[in-house]
This record gives sequence, structure tokens and C-alpha cells, in this order.
Amino acid sequence: MNIADKINKLRQEKNAVILAHNYVQPEVQQISDYSGDSLGLSRKAADTQADIILFCGVHFMAETASILSPQKKVLIPDPSAGCPMADMVTASQLEDFQKQHPNSLTVTYVNSSAEVKALSDYCCTSGNAVELVSNLPEDKEILFVPDRNLGAYVREQTGRKIITWDGCCPPHEDMTSEIIKDRKQQYPEAVVMAHPECPEDTRELADKLLSTAQMIQYASESTAAQFIVATEPGIIYALSEKCPDKEFIQASPRICFDMKKITLPAVLRSLENEQFEVSVPESTASKARKALERMLSVLPAASKNTAQR
Ligand code: SF4
Repeated sequence: MNIADKINKLRQEKNAVILAHNYVQPEVQQISDYSGDSLGLSRKAADTQADIILFCGVHFMAETASILSPQKKVLIPDPSAGCPMADMVTASQLEDFQKQHPNSLTVTYVNSSAEVKALSDYCCTSGNAVELVSNLPEDKEILFVPDRNLGAYVREQTGRKIITWDGCCPPHEDMTSEIIKDRKQQYPEAVVMAHPECPEDTRELADKLLSTAQMIQYASESTAAQFIVATEPGIIYALSEKCPDKEFIQASPRICFDMKKITLPAVLRSLENEQFEVSVPESTASKARKALERMLSVLPAASKNTAQR
């Protein structure tokens, strides 16, 4: 029996659902029940009848799944798969930041720890941050954590007073404008899709600024044949699966090392031994859940669907 067959057998025996983020290795995305972005996957998990959620992604994503599905056992194949950006703001740092800005609302990107979410008024994703902030009361300034690039993008788009935390995603921060200029010279006809976590001078060169779920949707609806993709290279697998007749050129080979820790052998071990369990204490989870639920409550119905993709 090969490794994929072993995983399939255990998945059925244990009534487990395997969720994979768009940035993990293609062979892991291939054996997953669902692949997508972190919040979409968590909501998928909440809707299934599975007893075990095996989250193939990084730690904060498994935490979010546990917050939204507290009655289920949530596993991550490698407990050291973290997110450097999420680690750039701690709960006590956020508390200090909030004390410095008492007439503010805190909007926290889902790429953050459960403790940071629990201190937040709203969570957001890269796909709904602009719309969410546009719907917030205008007399409030916004504290945006932890990603300074996504926060700056939201400020540009909404004109709102937004004070950003100085965090960033290292793989996206390395997606420089020089790289994009080189790629555009090589592929002058290609549409440039960039993630809003990229730095400002890179965002300025993009034709479209999109979350990973939006990239997949945009590419499948576009008449263009060639795309330069400025985000983590794992997305190329999902794009090529969805649009086999189109060409996707990764802007940079820079990977997220944490996402790549999730391998097929680690997935198998995780299912066999029911390791490594991720759970969030209910005192923290209930507050973090409110920030996630408030995100959906301020968005119009169409955007709620977008947020779930
Ligand atoms: S790609 Fe960036 S934001 Fe996503 S897990 Fe890796 S470091 Fe964190």
C-alpha cells in the first residue's frame, strides 16, 4: 500500500477531514479533501461531520479551525510549522498598542495567534479587509495588525486613518519590484497578479491585487492566457489544476519554509498517532470567535461568500 492509500484508509477509519492550504506542497494538496485559504478551510471544517480535522498548514490556521469547531479534534502534522508574521505581534504588545490609541478599533488579519485575535474587535482576511474597514464607523481610527503591507493597502483603498503594526510576511516582503520588472520584461503579455502582503512598490506594478482564493477565481474567469503570480509558489499547483490551459509564471521561487514542513509522511504519522493536537482554551477561543464572527456580521451577504472561499 502506498502512502496515499494508507492516508485514505486512515481518513475513512477515523472519520477525518484533511484540509490543505494553497501554499503547502502539491502532493499534500492533492490528497486533501479541500484546499483553499485559511478561513475558507476553517469554515469548511466547521460544516463537516468529521471527528478529526487534519489541518495541513501553519499553527494559527489550526487554531482558527479549533476556535470555529471547538468540539472537534484538530491536528497539525508538524507542530513547528508556525508563521513568522503571526509571531511578530504578541498579546501584550497589542495591549500596549491599544492603550496608546484608546479611540480606536483593532482589525487583525487572520494570520495571527488566538490570543491576539481575542484582543481584537474584528478579524479580516486579505480578501475582505478593504470592504470590512470601509464598513467601520468613520469616527474611529483603525489599528491594523500584524501586516504593515496589507494595512497600507487597505489605507490606500479606503482613505481611512489606519495605524499599522510593523509586521510582514517574509516571503512576500522578498517579492521585490525588481523581480516583477524582470518577469514583466520576460513575459510582456502576462497579467501580473500580486498578493496585498507584497510591499508597496511591488503592489504598484501589479495589474490585480488579490487574495489566493481571488487569484484562482480571477484566473479562471479571465480571457488572458498568461499570468505572473506574485505570492507563495504553492499556489501555482491550485491555479494549474483549475486552469490547465493557462500559463502561470511564479514571480519568485521564495517559499514559505513553514508551509513546506507539511509533508505526506508527516500527514500519515499525524493520522496514525492522532498528533499533534491544537486546541485553544475556551476563555481565549470565545473572544477570538467573536472577532471572527464580527468580521462576517459587518459584510454584505455577497462578501460573506467571498470570505468563505
Ligand atoms: S506565507 Fe507568510 S503569512 Fe503565510 S504562513 Fe508563511 S510567513 Fe506566514
